[in-house]
Amino acid sequence: MDDTLDTTWVLRWAELAQRVVAENRIELMELDRAIGDGDHGDNLDRGFTAVTAKLADAAPDTPAAVLKLIATTLMSTVGGAAGPLYGTAFLRAATAAGEGPLDAGGVAGLLAAAAEGVVARGKAATGDKTMVDALAPAAAAARRVAEVGDSARSALEAAADAAEAGAQATEPMVAKKGRASYLGERSAGHVDPGARSTALILRAAADAAAGESRP
Ligand code: ADP
Ligand code: MG
Repeated sequence: MDDTLDTTWVLRWAELAQRVVAENRIELMELDRAIGDGDHGDNLDRGFTAVTAKLADAAPDTPAAVLKLIATTLMSTVGGAAGPLYGTAFLRAATAAGEGPLDAGGVAGLLAAAAEGVVARGKAATGDKTMVDALAPAAAAARRVAEVGDSARSALEAAADAAEAGAQATEPMVAKKGRASYLGERSAGHVDPGARSTALILRAAADAAAGESRP
């Protein structure tokens, strides 16, 4: 079986991301209400709904073209801090993905580029209680899978697992970047909404590679 990923995977990823963000909109709002302004769930839901509409219209036919359309749509619809950050992540991912298809090394390269883009744009380090705390370990986990020669799908599964653990690990952290940092010590005790949404979106990527549709 060919275990590389192509345009179909990216399209499926976008569709599952839209679904998982919609299903978890309230959870993301509540996380953001605890340490921010409560709009993260609505922001992302609006963004990914626009993404699926745009993809249906434009029918881009390479991984890079799909990822680029996701990036530009998120940048123009999500708003807040997360819009430009997610936009940058998908734009860097587009450049890294190129024409595809992607093997595990390609997946690792895509996630590393996304993580570097978010860090370049937002200047957050690991431990600052942001989406970087989910995305950076995800990229590292995918790289480890690629190094042992396993499949693209395994790389995405490892990335999603690492992102979930990374998001959970933000709970005791004190925020150093973004709106939550205004709370200082009071930001501790809550999972960071952007780290949580990153974990959800990466789980969607893994599910898309597994050909699963979530019930
Ligand atoms: P806003 O904070 O403008 O309301 P959102 O609520 O949509 O925007 O997104 C908040 C999330 O954005 C945070 O949970 C955090 O993960 C992420 N974030 C904020 N600032 C930064 C930054 N400088 N670097 C990385 N991620 C950040
Ligand atoms: Mg917010």
